[in-house]
Amino acid sequence: MNPFNYQRATAPDEAVHAVSARGAKFLGGGTNLVDLMKSNVEQPTALIDVTHLDLTHVITSGNGTTIGAGVRNSDLANHEIIRTKYPLLSQALLSGASPQLRNMATTGGNLLQRTRCYYFMDTVFPACNKRTPGSGCAAIKGFNRNHAILGASDECIATNPSDMNVALAALNATIHVTGPKGQRTIAIADFHRLPGTTPQLDTNLQPDELITAVELPAPKFAKHSYYLKVRDRQSYAFALVSVAAGLAMNGNTIQSAGLALGGVAHKPWRSLEAEKSLVGATPSPAAFKKAADLAVAGAKPTEHNAFKIELAKQSIVRALTLAAQGVQA
Ligand SMILES: Cc1cc2nc3c(=O)[nH]c(=O)nc-3n(C[C@H](O)[C@H](O)[C@H](O)COP(=O)(O)OP(=O)(O)OC[C@H]3O[C@@H](n4cnc5c(N)ncnc54)[C@H](O)[C@@H]3O)c2cc1C
Ligand code: SF4
Repeated sequence: MNPFNYQRATAPDEAVHAVSARGAKFLGGGTNLVDLMKSNVEQPTALIDVTHLDLTHVITSGNGTTIGAGVRNSDLANHEIIRTKYPLLSQALLSGASPQLRNMATTGGNLLQRTRCYYFMDTVFPACNKRTPGSGCAAIKGFNRNHAILGASDECIATNPSDMNVALAALNATIHVTGPKGQRTIAIADFHRLPGTTPQLDTNLQPDELITAVELPAPKFAKHSYYLKVRDRQSYAFALVSVAAGLAMNGNTIQSAGLALGGVAHKPWRSLEAEKSLVGATPSPAAFKKAADLAVAGAKPTEHNAFKIELAKQSIVRALTLAAQGVQA
């Protein structure tokens, strides 16, 4: 690990100012960044600790809810507002990592956790456009079982590994940030990027912008939502495919739907077409299969991950079925 400076910020402005130093990065719970520093994937010159900022609130604001960027994943998953009004988010968080990691991990850090592509995480492999732009992509012709089937490019086929992000996409969250130019908000759909020709950029956040909060709109799916995570082990494993499904029901008619997939793309994959197809429908295998086909339309597998296409479709149908029945994960 390279030597680095450490600074504990006590106010957002101070944190933003401190991170403007060349090579500095914010530090949340450190469960991703410090791992990557130990393996020399990340080499910050300074860590600006943002866990002592006053950003640990979960409060009702207007009809929605605002979550401070410093709220730990365990606290968020178990918070009464989240458990009762946004169970989809609670379920997604509890499906991730381990209790110890969730106790450390923060909302801001989880949003920005980096891909688990084996070639990215191990500097033994020189070819990784995300780590070293222009070096190539070892995964495209390598072992790509965990990689993307949607929205990938010729330069990167990595996936976003977060469970929380998938639920935030289905819930249509907004990210609040502050930087040298002031405050702004970014819709979750625009927060994470597809790889295109710049796979080194995971998000549209600037390096000197601090995430301060996540805002959730008024709860719509409290009674009918389900987070389904399919993985190689039943615990302590990243998703091969995950589905965040939320339905707002009027009697037996679907009034609106939120549907996003994890483990399949460089960003949480929300399908507006699939959501639209559900509006006005009665819950049925046919309606859910149609939504699944639309959500995965255009999928392109690589050598080892063709199984993800059918797995994603089946998982969508199952998650929507359980959501319609009001089953909680
Ligand atoms: C063994 C293991 C298993 C795991 N399994 C899962 C899993 O199944 N599902 C899952 O979703 N996750 C899983 N994780 C990942 C875990 O959820 C993330 O490591 C965690 O959420 C990152 O949060 P953090 O606060 O520790 O971030 P950090 O490691 O502190 O930071 C991550 C990034 O966010 C930046 N950052 C932090 N806070 C802010 C802020 N407020 N504003 C701007 N930038 C900020 C940092 O600069 C850094 O780039 C696993 C991790 C491990 C180690
Ligand atoms: S898929 Fe992306 S992260 Fe993985 S080796 Fe290729 S460029 Fe790097």
